[in-house]
This record gives sequence, structure tokens and C-alpha cells, in this order.
Amino acid sequence: MADLPFFGHVIDGAEVPSLDGARFPSIDPWTREPWADVALGGQADSDRAVAAARKAFDEGPWPRMSFDERGAILHRLADLIEEHADELGLADTRDMGKPIAQSKGNDVARAAHNFRFFADHARLSVGEVLPMGDRHHTYTLFQPAGVVAAIAPWNFPLMLETWKVAPALAWGNTVVLKPAEDTPTSATILARLAIEAGMPAGVFNVVHGYGPDSAGQALTENPDVDRITFTGESGTGRIIARAGAANLVPASLELGGKGANIVFADADLDNAVDWSIRAIFTNAGQVCLAGSRLYVERSVYDEFLARFVTAAEAMVIGDPKEPTTQFGPLAGEEHYNKVRSYVESVEAEGGKILTGGLGDGWIVRPTVAVDLPDDSKHVCEEIFGPLVRVAPFDTEDEVVRAANDTPYGLNAMVFSENLSRAHRVSARLKAGTVWVNCFFIRDLRAPFGGVGDSGMGREGGNFSREFFTEPKAVVMQIARS
Ligand code: NAD
Repeated sequence: MADLPFFGHVIDGAEVPSLDGARFPSIDPWTREPWADVALGGQADSDRAVAAARKAFDEGPWPRMSFDERGAILHRLADLIEEHADELGLADTRDMGKPIAQSKGNDVARAAHNFRFFADHARLSVGEVLPMGDRHHTYTLFQPAGVVAAIAPWNFPLMLETWKVAPALAWGNTVVLKPAEDTPTSATILARLAIEAGMPAGVFNVVHGYGPDSAGQALTENPDVDRITFTGESGTGRIIARAGAANLVPASLELGGKGANIVFADADLDNAVDWSIRAIFTNAGQVCLAGSRLYVERSVYDEFLARFVTAAEAMVIGDPKEPTTQFGPLAGEEHYNKVRSYVESVEAEGGKILTGGLGDGWIVRPTVAVDLPDDSKHVCEEIFGPLVRVAPFDTEDEVVRAANDTPYGLNAMVFSENLSRAHRVSARLKAGTVWVNCFFIRDLRAPFGGVGDSGMGREGGNFSREFFTEPKAVVMQIARS
């Protein structure tokens, strides 16, 4: 791997190899060849990163700076992210096959926005003064929690990492980020840019490596960590919740999903088809929010399905480095094999594939399946790939029951031009977010998270403030009598 670009850990303000010199390749899912050489961390590297973050928190300037000073550095970092959009976008695209139009056009832009938004949100945030009469009053302070461990998945690498790192830093914490092992490179680039932006040493550290028995687990068990923010699978979330509980450390968990997408007969069908395609086939379906259970009211079922299949077949599949590509390969071989097994078992479970199926290499084409029973694994399990099960429904009660019949509760979509129905159904759905007549639009002030197996806690706006700070009540005596 001597001729491949090297991506190290970033610890205490310097890019470093692993203490034992271990490395691993990042595989480009389009070429299926290694494209980058990455430091492979273990417990010792993770401990070293936490020690740097601890020291920077306990002794360094970052938690003591004014919001304006910290905000200026975070804004500089946002500018640098935009200046390096090509490099950052290509890093995610080569690590996990996401089309460059999305990685550069959407995720990099969102990463910059995350820093600007949370810098400003923290700066403009106000506490409360609680007048208690003539003798006392109480006020609230939001003080940084300490060292934050951020553990990220591979499906939106830079975007989800910055969604955690930006509020944690804006509120004065120091951070150790462990990116997913499939998508390590954009995190190293981000940390290099943070140094360039003037962030003090030890404030933002990146350690690479695997989860279990490796850098990830070591982070969650380190007693010097004060907060764990995790995005990933529900099973991993349970392990991390236990690790946090053992040290009495709050853990915010953003986990898997099995989104229901409900199209009523009174919907604007052009709009519904357009968003429903994006809801399941964006990022080749590797989206926690994917609308993988699509319910269409029977009177428009045939018409909707015909249009939906046509739109799925029109997607531009190919080399994710090409700006016109809309749909690339799955992120890795193991994941491809998992999704392939779902595609191959549709018929055995009584279903029929209307379009899609396996493509070249690690591509699974946009796949539309019908006739799958409600208790099939395709309907019950998170596939995390471009396979949607479409089914007709007759009544509002029936479809709400079906939508809520899942252990997950991350999000749902409702398409209807009937205002009362849209509000009524949104309120009844078991979900952290409901999108009406759209998908994926986000206001970063809003709570984001899921119920049930989709997670614990919320982040976004004041919810991020609650999580990344220790709210304190100061009770003042202002007169003795
Ligand atoms: P994963 O759980 O396999 O891994 C996520 C991260 O956790 C990786 O960095 C991994 O190395 C680390 N990890 C694994 N085991 C660990 C352990 N024991 N201790 C510490 N760290 C450990 O998830 P993934 O496959 O990378 O991501 C896909 C999953 O993420 C899907 O289920 C998807 O729905 C979910 N997801 C959720 C959201 C959300 O906002 N709710 C967003 C994106 C993805």
C-alpha cells in the first residue's frame, strides 16, 4: 500500500500513525480495490486520544473561550470545508460509493452548515432567570459536559460526523471521533482542516479502527469520557448504552429504521412519486430514514406503481465519481452480500420483483417488490439497501396500524392534500420525524431521533444543548429578609 495516500489518526493536534504501526486499506466499492491506506487504531490509540481530549478540556483554552471566539474558529472551519469540497466529497465517494453529486453537493454542504448553525445556535442561546420573590432568584447555566466520544456510521460519513462534532465543540467540549471503518478518510481531512482553522491541540481528535474489542469499544468504556453520541445499528446501540450505563455516562443513540411511506389517494401523485423515489433510492437505500415500506391507497395503487417503477428505472446508475450518476454500488462486499440475500429471497417469501435486482459488481439496482406478506423479513427487518416493498391499503386506520407495526420508530412520510388527515395521521404515527408531502428536509433546530429500536434521546438545536452540556441551576440570595 506504499503508493496509496495515507490517512492517520489526528491526536493532540498532529496526524499520527498507530502506536503499533498497524494499517488497513479503504476499499473503493466501484473499483473494488484499495484506494487509501489508513491507521488502524486499537485500545492504546483510543486511550491516547481520550487523554489528549481530557487534557485539552481540563487545562486548555477551548472550554474557557467566549462563544464569539469559539464561533469564529468554527466558522473558519466551515469556510475551509467548502474550499475543500472536492477533496472531501471524493473521500466519501471513494470510501463508500456515494455518488459525488450527493457527497459533494449535499453532504459537504451540510457539514459546513452544521458548523455554522451550531456555532451560531450556541452563541445566541440564552439561559433562564427564575424570579423567586424579593429574597432569591435562580438562573441557569449550560456548561460544557467534558470529553465527548462520537461514534459514526458509514452511510453519511462527513455529514453525520459533523452533526455530532459541531454542537459538541460549539458548546465547549473536546471530542474524540471514531469514524466507521468503511469510511475513515473524510474524518482525517476534517481534522486537518480544524488544525488549519486554528483549533487548539487536543480539542478535536480522530481515532480510526473497528468497533468491538477495538478503538470503538475502548472509547465507550474509557472513564474519562463524559458523553457518548452514537449513530449506527440498533444492536450496537444496545451494547453502547450498556457501556455508558456502566460509567453513568449519558449516551445519545441514533439507530436503525424501517420508515413507512403512506400515499393517500388524494395526494399530488407527481410529488409523491418524486419524493418516494428519493426516500428509498437515495444513497442506494443505505439511509436510516429510508421509506422502505411503501403503502399506497388502493384506488391509486396501479397508477402510482406504474409511475414509480418508471421513475426507478430512469435512475442513472454507474461510476459514483461521475457528476451525473444518481445511484452507485453498495458500500462494501459484506453489505452487498447481505442486501443480495434479501433480493434473492423475495420470491421464496411469496413476493414478486417488478423491477431491479442485481447489477454489476456491488450494485443492487433500484428494486421494487410487491406481494410480500406483512411478516416477511423484507417488511420486518432493516435491509439498508435499495429494496422497497409496496402494498395497497384501504383505510386510514388500517394503514396507521400497519405503519406502526414495527419495533422501529425513526420516521414516516405522509402524502395527502387533505390538511386534517395529514395532521391527524402525523400525530398517530410512531416516529421521531414525520414528513408531510416531502422527505429529508431538515431544520437543525428541530429534535432528531427515534423511538423504540430507533434510538434514545434527541439531538438538534436545544436538544443538542441539553445533551452536550451540564445544565446548572444557580440559586442566589439577594436579600436576607
Ligand atoms: P454499526 O453499528 O455497525 O457501526 C457504527 C459505528 O459503531 C462504527 O463506527 C463501528 O465501528 C462502531 N462500533 C461497532 N461496534 C461497536 C462497539 N461494540 N463499541 C463501540 N463502537 C462500535 O452501524 P453501521 O453499519 O456503520 O451503520 C448502519 C446503521 O446505522 C443502520 O442501522 C442505520 O439505520 C443506522 N443509522 C442511523 C441513523 C440515525 O440517525 N438514526 C443515521 C445513519 C445510520
